[in-house]
Amino acid sequence: MEQGFAKETKPLPDLGLVSRGRSDLLPLEERQLLAAIRESGQDRGQDRMEERPNAPASGSETGPGLGSNAGIVREVVRCRNCGLCRGVRRALDLALGLAGAGWNVFTDGELVHNPGVLRDLAGRGVRVWDGEERSWGPRDCILIRAHGIGPERRAFLLRLGCPLFDGTCPEVARVAGKIRRGKFHGRGLLLFGDGEHPETRGLMAHGGENLRVVRDSSDLDRLGDFTERQPFLLLAQTTADEGEFAELGRDLLQRFPASQIDDTICASTRIRRAELDQLLQNCPFDAVVVLGGLHSANTLRLAAAARAAGLWTLHAEDAAALAETVPFSAMRVLLASGTSTPEEVVDAAERALRGHFSCPGPGGDSAFPEARAQD
Ligand code: SF4
Repeated sequence: MEQGFAKETKPLPDLGLVSRGRSDLLPLEERQLLAAIRESGQDRGQDRMEERPNAPASGSETGPGLGSNAGIVREVVRCRNCGLCRGVRRALDLALGLAGAGWNVFTDGELVHNPGVLRDLAGRGVRVWDGEERSWGPRDCILIRAHGIGPERRAFLLRLGCPLFDGTCPEVARVAGKIRRGKFHGRGLLLFGDGEHPETRGLMAHGGENLRVVRDSSDLDRLGDFTERQPFLLLAQTTADEGEFAELGRDLLQRFPASQIDDTICASTRIRRAELDQLLQNCPFDAVVVLGGLHSANTLRLAAAARAAGLWTLHAEDAAALAETVPFSAMRVLLASGTSTPEEVVDAAERALRGHFSCPGPGGDSAFPEARAQD
């Protein structure tokens, strides 16, 4: 099996996809650019699992162990909703489309929280701009990542004088729009999230003095003069935890009954968490591997949910850490990923796990039918 694994291992495949749809949300210049890229035959966008909820989960295979594991049946179950979320995929597609059209793309921050993928992107002409002063060339451009930015940052980037492209996720842009409207009407806005997270920092900049970030109910006691801005409108960072947001909403209504609550957690975050919870509830796993950047908020939350279920849990950035780490005694392993982990990284991790356990590749029925019941 090691041989098979080595044969399957390959550098990150071509990520140069340009997603179908949502281009109507782009400014005219970007729409024209996307149209040109599609005409040049680069549009190999593919539907995401999240858009096909009834599609079968891949990678749920079993088989007799090999060599010293003869007679042992092991299984690697992969969450159906793995890989990049739509927002990050869209920004990545835009970056690679621009690079393919001859631009030197500088992203305003990391597009994905994965060092290996960032190295791969740099080789394709998409680099992270470190913010240092530099002289911009005629084919240089800047790309705003999916997290979005505030108006001051946008004005600063525009002043740099090189073309600026916007990869802000439409879900984040929607929340920013609600915040701007709330500010326009003079409302007191509360945003449930992490004030250090780039998305929340950008949203805070849209709300200005009208917005306060709250991490939990105890922050409601520290609003001080801000209580004069009632009635409040409570919103959420798109990757926030649904249960914690609901709890905060209940506490807010108890203390400030005229408040309104707008759950702005995005569908990708919701679906991944719901699937993980369902699998953890219904299937007896021995170990969980959650792939994603070590500082990725949504990945950390998925890993925390698995630990809270009492399972041995590994949060890893890629396949490299898996083979020696996952306990060999684990009979069934669940593989999940955060929203900025490309499917290619999940594929490699799945192969590494199969190699580790000497599980055969695709083909064969599950020895654990309840895992299939999720399909
Ligand atoms: S996690 Fe949600 S809001 Fe954030 S980029 Fe992905 S789809 Fe957009």
